[in-house]
Amino acid sequence: MIVRNLSKRFGSEAEVLSGISFQVDQGEFVAIIGSSGSGKSTLLRCLSLQETWTEGEYIYEGRDITKLNPLEKFKVRKNWAFLEEKPNVNMRTTAQKNVWTGRWKQTPLWRLVTRRAAMDEHVMAADYLEKVGLLDKGDEKVEKLSGGEQQRVALAKALVQEAQVIFADEPVRGLDPASSERVMEDLRKTAKRDNVTIICCLHKLELAERYATRIMGLSGGKIVLDIPARRLTLREKDMIL
Ligand code: ATP
Ligand code: MG
Repeated sequence: MIVRNLSKRFGSEAEVLSGISFQVDQGEFVAIIGSSGSGKSTLLRCLSLQETWTEGEYIYEGRDITKLNPLEKFKVRKNWAFLEEKPNVNMRTTAQKNVWTGRWKQTPLWRLVTRRAAMDEHVMAADYLEKVGLLDKGDEKVEKLSGGEQQRVALAKALVQEAQVIFADEPVRGLDPASSERVMEDLRKTAKRDNVTIICCLHKLELAERYATRIMGLSGGKIVLDIPARRLTLREKDMIL
């Protein structure tokens, strides 16, 4: 995706994002960091078409996204998945069922009504639960899993939908350090193994440094840093925090 000079204001208020430009290649794991109110979530919402922007160009897979008709936009969005702070899962059913119902989005109707499809889905769900290390938790109700495990079920759901891009807004907020690291590790693997682009807002700089491939720093709605992920220098930290 390519973004050129994107800006966003709400009503007549001051700009929340200004002059945002970057290009993200398939399979990159971009961490967006910045202090509270710097515009991280707004940027993510614009990129995932959940919010309109005031000015700027947004090219996805070579096409100007603002020029797509609603059906084309729908098709693009079908290839995207979202992770939020609160895992987007059905708490009252099993991990396995969460994953295979995720698949329905991509399955033709006629297959859904055959028993054979149900059998395939059983096997298929296991494959995806294995990717996030939850094979042994498939039959558990999701409400019984830990917060980190629930988030990993949400990730397995995104994977089963064959998402090409995952937009994540603070997916590990509120999780303990060990669970956060496990979720981040699974995201890192996903980008690498499945060539999925991940764009992830984070509060904790250390997680961005350790798991992402690229760090984008926002301050006051502007990109003030855009570098391959590594330990930031004190000066760089000062720029964003
Ligand atoms: P946090 O780290 O707290 O999640 P953030 O970096 O995600 O912060 P945003 O939520 O993108 O920040 O908000 C950036 C700015 O935009 C804030 O000043 C916020 O008040 C403003 N803003 C966000 N959404 C709206 C809205 N719907 N209407 C008006 N202003 C908004
Ligand atoms: Mg936010």
